[in-house]
Amino acid sequence: MAVPFRRTSKTRKRQRRANYKIEVPGMVKCPDCGEMKLSHRVCKHCGSYKGETVIEKD
Ligand SMILES: [Zn+2]
Repeated sequence: MAVPFRRTSKTRKRQRRANYKIEVPGMVKCPDCGEMKLSHRVCKHCGSYKGETVIEKD
């Protein structure tokens, strides 16, 4: 909701930011290699998605 910025204290603003920063990246551990990857996306490390290898490495 739109609120005049002086009404929101620095502490309150920072506390809010501290929470959504965790959620936005959407990082999960890859079940195949254990690396951190973005959820619902192919793992950059091993190229797997839903237990299948989607990207073949040379
Ligand atoms: Zn992986």
